[in-house]
Amino acid sequence: MQIEKVYEPQRFEPHWAQWWIDSGLFRADNKAPGRVFSLVIPPPNVTGSLHIGHMLEHTEIDVTVRWHRMRGDNTLWLPGSDHAGIATQMVVERKLAEEGLNRIDMGREAFEARVWEWKAQYGDTIKRQMVRLGTSCDWSRERFTLDPGLSRAVREVFVRLYEKGLIYRGEYMVNWCPRCHTALSDLEVAHSDVQGHLWHIRYPVNGIPGRYVTVATTRPETMLGDTAVAVNPKDARYSDLHGRTVQLPLMDREIPVIVDDLADPAFGTGVVKVTPAHDLNDFEAGRRHNLPKIQVIDENGAMTAAAGKYAGLDRMEARRRVVADLEAAGNLAKVEEYPLSLGKCDRCKTPVEPLISTQWFVKTKPLAEKATAAVETGRIEFVPPNWSKTYFEWMYNIRDWCISRQLWWGHRIPAWHCQECHEIIVAYETPKACPRCASSKLEQDTDVLDTWFSSGLWPFSTLGWPDQTEDLAKYYPTSLLITGFDILFFWVARMAMLGIEFMGDVPFRQVYIHGLVRDAERQKMSKTRGNTIDPLVVTEKYGTDAVRMALLQGAAPGTVIVLTEERMESSRAFANKIWNAARFLFLNMERSAVTPWVPESLETFQPDPDAVTLAAPIEDRWIFSRLNSCAEQVNRAIEQYRYHEAAQLLWHFFWHEFCDWYVELKKLTFKENSGLTPGWRNTLAAFETALRLLHPAMPFLTEELWQRLATADCRPKSISVAGYPQYRQELTDFAAEREIGILQEIVTLARTLRAEAKLDPKQRLDGKLYSRTPALDAARVHLAAIESLANVKLELVADAAPKAAVMRSTAEFDLILDVPQAQQEAQRKRAEKECEQLKKNIGNLERQLGDEKFLGRAPADVVEGMRKKLADYKVQHEKLCGAL
Ligand SMILES: [Zn+2]
Ligand SMILES: [Zn+2]
Repeated sequence: MQIEKVYEPQRFEPHWAQWWIDSGLFRADNKAPGRVFSLVIPPPNVTGSLHIGHMLEHTEIDVTVRWHRMRGDNTLWLPGSDHAGIATQMVVERKLAEEGLNRIDMGREAFEARVWEWKAQYGDTIKRQMVRLGTSCDWSRERFTLDPGLSRAVREVFVRLYEKGLIYRGEYMVNWCPRCHTALSDLEVAHSDVQGHLWHIRYPVNGIPGRYVTVATTRPETMLGDTAVAVNPKDARYSDLHGRTVQLPLMDREIPVIVDDLADPAFGTGVVKVTPAHDLNDFEAGRRHNLPKIQVIDENGAMTAAAGKYAGLDRMEARRRVVADLEAAGNLAKVEEYPLSLGKCDRCKTPVEPLISTQWFVKTKPLAEKATAAVETGRIEFVPPNWSKTYFEWMYNIRDWCISRQLWWGHRIPAWHCQECHEIIVAYETPKACPRCASSKLEQDTDVLDTWFSSGLWPFSTLGWPDQTEDLAKYYPTSLLITGFDILFFWVARMAMLGIEFMGDVPFRQVYIHGLVRDAERQKMSKTRGNTIDPLVVTEKYGTDAVRMALLQGAAPGTVIVLTEERMESSRAFANKIWNAARFLFLNMERSAVTPWVPESLETFQPDPDAVTLAAPIEDRWIFSRLNSCAEQVNRAIEQYRYHEAAQLLWHFFWHEFCDWYVELKKLTFKENSGLTPGWRNTLAAFETALRLLHPAMPFLTEELWQRLATADCRPKSISVAGYPQYRQELTDFAAEREIGILQEIVTLARTLRAEAKLDPKQRLDGKLYSRTPALDAARVHLAAIESLANVKLELVADAAPKAAVMRSTAEFDLILDVPQAQQEAQRKRAEKECEQLKKNIGNLERQLGDEKFLGRAPADVVEGMRKKLADYKVQHEKLCGAL
C-alpha cells in the first residue's frame, strides 16, 4: 500500500511496458472463442524513428485495441515495418558515400548485404520506441515486408496477376528521377509553383516562303526531340497547313504538321510542338499519329547523341545554349515570365524528367472497379464518411500502376529474360532454361517492385497467406484500419484492390482517417519551422499517459489536432490529481487496516453486494450513478472514434466529480469516524472501476494504481485484461444525483460569494439559506457537509429572502452571508456590474426570441433552451437588482 508522495511516471512506465510484453498479455490466441477484433498497423518505414504523428496514430489505435481487449474480444493488433525501398536505399547510400564507397562498385549482392546489416543495427528504432510507449501490439506476430513469408506472398501475387493479364510490360512515359535513377509514381512527385519562362519559337513552314508557325514552350531544350507540330482541327487560322511540314530549327529536320485536339486554339498561338519522348500528353498524341520518339535527354539528365551538337551537355546547360542559338538564328520570337508547376522527386528534390522507358504495370481498372464497389455498397466504411468521396475520385480516374523501380533494395521482380531469344519468363521459382529456345542464359529482371506493392498485401500476407493459416481464417478481414489521409491512395486503395482480388473479401471493414498534429497556431509541424514535438522527449518530461491524454483531447474526427506544452502540462496535472486521490485512499485503507480489496467480478463492475441500496451512503449511490453514466458515454465515444469526447468525459469524471466532490465528502465521513466506515468497500470499488474506465487512455497510471489496489489472486493479473465497465441500468440513481446536486449548488454559491468578497477561505462565516421549495429539506440533511465544505455556519429559512447586499441566488435558493462591512462595498460594486450584465443578456435574448426569421431557422430545442435561460436571468435579475 506504500505509495510515493509525488506522481513520477518515469519511475514505473518502463517497468509496465516491459512487463506487459513479458507476460504475453497482448498475444492473440487464434483458438480462443468470442468476437474477433483485428487490426494491422500501418507499417512505419524501417528507416524511421517515432514522430508525433505516429504517436497520435498509435495512441488512437491503442485506445481502441485496449478497449476491445478489455471487453473480452479476441483481439489482435499486428505490428511490423516496411522495407521502404527508395528511402532505405538512400540512407545506406549516404552512409556508403561517407566511407567513400558506392553501390555500383560494390555490386548488387554486397550492397543488399550491407542494407540488411544496416537494418539489423538501426531498423528496430521504432519498435523499441513503441515498446517503451506501451503500445499494446502482439510482438510475437511482428512482420517485415521483406520477410521470407511476405516475399512469397509478393511473388505469388505477381505471378497470378501476370497470368491473368493484369501485369504487363510496356513502354510508358514515366516520371524519372535523374538523381535516384528510378521511375517515380505520380504520387512520389512533389509539385511546386515556380516562376519560369515561356519561350516562343518560330518554325518556318516548308513550301510557303516567309510563313512561320510560332510555338510556345517552358522547356526549349526538348525542341531538339520534336517530331511534329500540332494544330487544332477547328482552328481556321491554320487550315492551310494541314498536310504540310515545318522545318525544325537548329536540327534542320523536316517534321509534319498534325491535326489534333492536343492544340488548344485559345492557348498561345494555337500551335504546339510535339515531343513524344519527353512529355506525357505528347507521348499519347505521338501514339495516335504514329510519330517517332526521339529521346534527347538520358536517364542522367544529360543530352543524348540524338541532340546533335548538344550531346553530353546537362539539360539545364543545353537549355541556355539552345535559347542562345535560337536567338542568334532569329527563331526566338519572344520570352515571357511564366508561372509553372515544377515536378520534383519527393525524396531528393531533383526536377523529374518525363522519360520513356519499359516498365512493369498493373492494369488497375478491373481491380479498382471491385474496390470502388466495396465502398459504394458499404462493405468498407470510411470514418469520417466524406473520405469516401476522395477515394471515389481517385478510383474513377485511376491510371495503370507502374510497379517497377530501378532500385536494389526490395522484392526483385520474378521475371527472367532469355539472353538468346529475349523471351520473358515470369515464374515462382528461378527457371533453369528458356521454354522457347531452351537456352540456359537467363537473367533475372534487375528492377524491384514498388514498396507499396508489398504493403498492399499487408492485411493478408502478414497472416500467413498464401498458406491457409488459422490466423488468416480467424483474423481476416481485419475489423478496422486507422491511418492518415496522406496514404489513402498509396496504401488504403491498393490494399482494397489486392485484398478483394486475392482473398475474395475486403481487407478491413472500417477505415478511420485521423487528423494531423499541429502546433498552438495550428501550423503544420516541420523541422524547418522548428515547431516539432519529439514524442520521446515529451513522454520523458510529462509521462506517456499525459501526452496520450493531451493528444486524445484534441482528436475530434475530421479536425487537426492541436498539441501544446500547456496541454501536456495540464494532462500531467490531471494524472497527478488521480495519483493524489489514490494516495488518500490508500493511506486511509492502511490506517484502518482494511484488507486489500478484491473485486467480486470483473466482467462488469460490481460494488459491495449491499452497496447500492438506499441504505448505502448517499455519496456512494451518487458516485456509482455518475460513474455508470460516464461508462455509458465513454463506451459510445470510443466505439465511434470520438476520442476527444471520451477523454473529456473521463477528465470531467475524475477531476470534477470523483476528486473534487466524492473524495472531499469521504474525507468528512472520515473525520467523523476516525477510520473507514463499512461503506469504504464501495469507495474502493468505485475507484477500481474508474481506473478500468480510464485504462485505454492512460494505461500506465491505471496499471500502477490497480496493481497496488488489489491482492494478487482471484483476479486477472493486469488491468489491461480486466473487464471494461459497461452501463448497468440499476446503478442509475436520479434521487442521489438530485440530492448531491443540491449540496454542490449551495457549496458553490457560498464559495463564489466568498471569492467575490475576497475573503480568506479559512475565515468561517455565518449566513442564512432561504428557500420555499422542498430542496431545503435536502439541504438540511446535508447541512453538516455543506457547512464543512463551504466553511460556513448556516441557518436554514423556509421563506423568501429579504433584500441584502451580499447575496447569491439560484432558482431554488438565496444565500446571504454575513460579510464584514469593509468587504460589503466591494461586493456591492460587483453586484452592480453583474446586474448590468444580466440586463444585457436579457436584452439580447429578448431580441433574438422576437426575431421571426431566427425562430424559423433555429431548432426547437435551442429556442426552448433560450427561453429557459431568459426566465432564469429574469429571476436572478429581479433578486439581485432588488437587493441593490
Ligand atoms: Zn530523386
Ligand atoms: Zn530463349
